[in-house]
Amino acid sequence: MQGRKIHSFYKGIFSGDVLNFSKRSPFVREIMLERINPSRVILPMKMHYGVPAVPTVKEGDIVKAGQCIGLPDPKSFSSPVHTGISGRVTAIKEITLPNGIKTPAVFINNDMKRTRLDSLKSRGDIKLSAVQTIALIRDAGICGMGGEGIPTYAKLTRARNHAVDDFLVNCLQSEPYSTCDLMAIVEYPDYVVNGACACARACGAKNVKFLISAGRRTERAALENSIRNAKDSYKDLDISIELFRERFPQGYYRLVAKALYGKQLGINDTLEQTCSAVMFNCSTMLSCWEAISDNIPMMNRIISVSGNESGGHNLLVPIGTPVSEVLSSAYDANKTESRIIWGNCLTGIEITDPEEVPVIKMTSVISIVRKAEIPTTPCIHCGLCSECCPMGLSPNTVYEMLVQGLVQKAAEEGARDCISCGSCSYVCPAGINLATSIARFANQGRVIEVNSLLDNGGLEFSEEASLNASQVGQASLLEEFPDEEDEKNETDPDSIILPFDGGKTV
Ligand code: SF4
Ligand code: SF4
Repeated sequence: MQGRKIHSFYKGIFSGDVLNFSKRSPFVREIMLERINPSRVILPMKMHYGVPAVPTVKEGDIVKAGQCIGLPDPKSFSSPVHTGISGRVTAIKEITLPNGIKTPAVFINNDMKRTRLDSLKSRGDIKLSAVQTIALIRDAGICGMGGEGIPTYAKLTRARNHAVDDFLVNCLQSEPYSTCDLMAIVEYPDYVVNGACACARACGAKNVKFLISAGRRTERAALENSIRNAKDSYKDLDISIELFRERFPQGYYRLVAKALYGKQLGINDTLEQTCSAVMFNCSTMLSCWEAISDNIPMMNRIISVSGNESGGHNLLVPIGTPVSEVLSSAYDANKTESRIIWGNCLTGIEITDPEEVPVIKMTSVISIVRKAEIPTTPCIHCGLCSECCPMGLSPNTVYEMLVQGLVQKAAEEGARDCISCGSCSYVCPAGINLATSIARFANQGRVIEVNSLLDNGGLEFSEEASLNASQVGQASLLEEFPDEEDEKNETDPDSIILPFDGGKTV
């Protein structure tokens, strides 16, 4: 079924290397995935690439789990927001997320009744066209859960417009102390596989490739079993598993392009254009199948809570759950001498107000890291940062140039290639925070890059095809590309796609 070649990129940080980087938190063997029912949620209207959604509820409103509480502004590129708990809206006000994003947020107090919308139920006979699948994923508010936050429907549309051959499913979770994606595979392998196959069909890909570390035997076995079960339903697809060496930061698209296709992508290159491929995170595929199969919008996610101060846990939490409530469920709160990181301990952001910071769609881990004073000294020219940089940079050289304001020289040294992995700062024995400066410089260019990708990918909505509050729930993407299947069947999308509550009526 699958080739045994083990792919990898050059450099990075190995598991089990001298840095002992792979010292994983001992993840607790939980009998089943624990589900948190928090006392409240904070739902930012911007958890995705694009403009914030617009709240569709007001203070005092009673809401049910699964209800849409924020819709995309007409003519904007955005994504709707749904609540994962039932209760009362207590406030709508602007908040600032730890990453600096200012956004309106809807605060909801949980009535602990777990009242769900009636529409959240199995679809039964699933016969959706490509357009309907993509429209459903759009209305479900699904965004890349691996960290990028691009609305999934937009990537699917772009992949379809590029007529990609390969649909890649990123199961290469390699960040320290994080196993939420791997947990998703073990707990819901059929959802991951079916979601990937349905999405691959929607964008017209021929091959579905699951990318996973060779050492992840349990997860591989779960995937292989589900692939066997799915093959009869997806005879038109060639489904396989591609093995990778475990190494950080495995999974970034430019490193995957190098490892899998032998292609060196420039900062403005896309997988679609250069490799005829598109890649999605495996947890995103799980969410897609929840929407397709069970009509469940993106309202929960699995997150890891772990670090060198705590045993690892994976929890299923409603999106918007305050970090403090996650911690009280999974972590010994008596250990006050710890730092709380929103994200993984290499690239995440330290927070001091866990009551005010929510888990958002892209939060895959809350890290608890022992407080340590690292003395900073001048560079000792050990070369470790260059040895580990997966993009082949000399971080110490680039850093010095940026400190001296030599931005043009830094750019010529390849600084814009930095993928913000944090490895250089991690290994630096002098305690120099190389990654923050270099990544900040690189990201200034990346905003433009993402914008241009969106513009080029058929994602510039015409007046008629733009997301419209009164149209969400209908397949307004129908105008985005002709669909012969739809024309032939003359199906009414609304007769098949159950709109998430709040879709057409708000
Ligand atoms: S943060 Fe940037 S410069 Fe540092 S190792 Fe990663 S890619 Fe290289
Ligand atoms: S790892 Fe730190 S000390 Fe070593 S060369 Fe790089 S910046 Fe200098």
